[in-house]
Amino acid sequence: MSGHDKWVARDAAVVWHGFTQMGAYADNAPVVVDHAEGHEVVDVDGRRYLDAISSLWVTTLGHRVPELDDALRAQIDRGAHTTMLGNGNRVVVELSEALARVVPVDAPHFIYASDGACAVEQALKIAFQHWVNRGVKGRDTFLAFGGAYHGDTIGALSVGAGGFGTDLFDPLRFPVLRAPGFDNPGCFDVACGIVAEHASKLAAVIVEPLVQGAAGMQLADPEGLAALARACRAHDVLLICDEVATGFGRTGSLFASEAADIRPDLLCLGKGLTAGYLAMSATAVAGPVFDSFLGPDLSEKTLYHGHSYSGNALAAAVALRHLELLEAWDVLANVRERSEQLRALLDDRVTPLAAVHEVRLCGLMGGVELAPPADGLRWGRRVCAAAVERGVLLRPLGDVVVVMPPLTVTAEEINRIVHVLTEAIAEVTA
Ligand SMILES: *Cc1c(COP(=O)(O)O)cnc(C)c1O
Repeated sequence: MSGHDKWVARDAAVVWHGFTQMGAYADNAPVVVDHAEGHEVVDVDGRRYLDAISSLWVTTLGHRVPELDDALRAQIDRGAHTTMLGNGNRVVVELSEALARVVPVDAPHFIYASDGACAVEQALKIAFQHWVNRGVKGRDTFLAFGGAYHGDTIGALSVGAGGFGTDLFDPLRFPVLRAPGFDNPGCFDVACGIVAEHASKLAAVIVEPLVQGAAGMQLADPEGLAALARACRAHDVLLICDEVATGFGRTGSLFASEAADIRPDLLCLGKGLTAGYLAMSATAVAGPVFDSFLGPDLSEKTLYHGHSYSGNALAAAVALRHLELLEAWDVLANVRERSEQLRALLDDRVTPLAAVHEVRLCGLMGGVELAPPADGLRWGRRVCAAAVERGVLLRPLGDVVVVMPPLTVTAEEINRIVHVLTEAIAEVTA
């Protein structure tokens, strides 16, 4: 057995991989990483792969960034973690101050967790309790979109649309009102109508601004989003923006909400928050919502919610340095330039292919939707496997090939991704 096969066998014997049929895991040529550096991951046999999915959308500046490694090492000498329940930690204060300066949320407070799904859960519970605290009855439901993905915990799953293989959990999901997905151009008109009609029942609307990632990079009309935000404001319904995927520069502005000029009441952050280094997520809460939880000590207005690793100091130190680097390196300019380059290349070489249904791109969030002539051909999976064989790590969402390179991707790497993708599509769909 090669080193690779040995590691896959050891892996399959004890590790359960998410969103993966373990009975087929070993047969799908998984990459077992030994280490990662820059924009590449290196497997146990020393083969190198360009990380064109940013380790599932979390890596922003690449792997082993010296400045981030240093921030992490420095924090280790000051202690890895202390609790946020009733106590504070200096680096978490500093991170929150830095975030407060840049998030599109008025007078924000930040409550931390470890995963995007938990940032969403917190937002849902805070929105719900906000109305209870204000003595408003009946505001106990949410409006969400078709195609939405907000994470895998039960609450996040409830506001998420069905599909993604999760239909069997339907009996556990609480009911919500549902607008169409972004693939339907009328979705925001319908959503605004629902807000107007059902405001007295709605605790909040939850939306992924600009891009529904897991739905296969479905793009929203910024005007529609702005209209939704206005409808929420007009009818006194809270707006939750889930920027777990779109936050920290992914779409070309620091937050996607900015492109639609909207200021949500609650903002969910995750994935890129720590540049892909450590598990940390956060919910930013606007002043008026936060204020509704103020009351006497131990009173029922308190938010009785909090995670053990909330505000982890190591993660906070990296997140803080990451924010500084995004600005110091003018990473957003690179996102915009590389996005234009990627769009031109895809338009030229990929969109015209008969095997391609549509190409969607916003910043460095891209999806190439294939058009298999029949069901069950597994084109998405096979095209990605062919790309991996050529040294570019891709992973599909169904028959949509996701292109999500690090925000610091170079022009040469963009060329390579499109070249390999074109070859992979040709090989599989010939
Ligand atoms: C990935 C994602 C989540 C869930 O984040 P996890 O860290 O995987 O729990 C939530 N919302 C959106 C929009 C996401 O893309």
